[in-house]
Amino acid sequence: MAERVTETLYDAYAQQFSVDEKLLEQKSQHQHLLIFENAKFGRVLTLDGVVQTTEGDEFVYHEMMTHVPILAHGEARRVLIIGGGDGGILREVVRHASVEAITQVEIDEAVVAMSKTYLPNHSAGAFDDPRFTLVINDGFAFVRDSSEQFDVIIVDSTDPIGPGEALFTQDFYAACKDRLTPGGVVVTQNGVPYMQLDEVCNTAARFSRLFADWHFYSAAVPTYVGGIMTFGWASDNAALRRVPVETLEARYRAAGLRTRYYTPELHPASFALPGYILDAIGKR
Ligand code: SAM
Repeated sequence: MAERVTETLYDAYAQQFSVDEKLLEQKSQHQHLLIFENAKFGRVLTLDGVVQTTEGDEFVYHEMMTHVPILAHGEARRVLIIGGGDGGILREVVRHASVEAITQVEIDEAVVAMSKTYLPNHSAGAFDDPRFTLVINDGFAFVRDSSEQFDVIIVDSTDPIGPGEALFTQDFYAACKDRLTPGGVVVTQNGVPYMQLDEVCNTAARFSRLFADWHFYSAAVPTYVGGIMTFGWASDNAALRRVPVETLEARYRAAGLRTRYYTPELHPASFALPGYILDAIGKR
């Protein structure tokens, strides 16, 4: 039987992949990188034993994390990506011709280098976009020390273990707020609530102290095991979360988008959360 990789995110429960071909395994300065070929999901990237992205289902996560805030905002010119070394978010952001400048702050240049080589469909050339600037740094240090302003901030982090932990703190979210233009929005990778409900509760408590309007939206990403995953949403402009479908539809068409998971109808619906999550964040 082919070698198998078991994910190490949870003690009590794990998913397992057959390794049909191991393409890369190395220890970077920050984390253990593994990229392998799997019959069902194509190429899979794990960092410190945790699935980050797969060729098979990455479209779900990258489309929802990018088009929901950008289409809701409606006139995003400057976008900041924190993390996202595989380039999937960047690929979706560059599809918006209205965006004028994209800055990405990734702590581990090895992830970018390896993703360019082994996951070329994730970035699909987006790293060469003339609007793009790559900063190799801790995302927290960047938002704390920078004086730049952004209309949309997308925090495409790992889970809050290791280098990713800094990207779930109150101080980080406060610094993101300082980096937002008036009426800007920040969205975060916020885990699988059935398995990581504490991550949702922690982010909710921290957002509620900083932003006038915050919530979560969801999508089902097959390789983020345990059901739907949540994306954190925070802005001082409450109207951004209530953009009519007709407006989203018009913006979607104007951008010339064609997406496999995101739809303008699904966009507002994704903010409707199950009762147990509303209870956990004090919204029911
Ligand atoms: N959870 C997302 C997913 O599964 O699709 C994350 C994918 S992306 C590969 C996560 C990125 O966050 C990695 O490239 C990792 O190097 C980066 N990262 C982790 N901690 C970071 C930090 N403090 N600052 C900037 N980038 C960070």
